Amino acid sequence: MDILSLKAALDLGKKALEIVRQTKELLPNGKEKDTAKIVINEADTAFKLAESKIAQDLGYQLCRCTWPPQIMLSIEQEKYGEKFQCPKCKSILSSEMPPL
Ligand SMILES: [Zn+2]
Repeated sequence: MDILSLKAALDLGKKALEIVRQTKELLPNGKEKDTAKIVINEADTAFKLAESKIAQDLGYQLCRCTWPPQIMLSIEQEKYGEKFQCPKCKSILSSEMPPL
């Protein structure tokens, strides 16, 4: 499976998780609902980690301000490199290389 197919599968999985998350709200308060919350949070973390791994394989930078890591997005293309910004903490990373 190539990386983009994997990303599509991951997106479907995330949609399924969202449906499960909404369905959980129908459960009465109690032990089962608490267990459902824990399992859903674990699945959410696993999905975010898989997404970070895919992003990294696609050449994206990761910010370590949270766990799972945030995927930094390109904000500026420069002559000698590119700048990336974390959507969460707004820190900027530059891939700028000094000219040879
Ligand atoms: Zn960050």
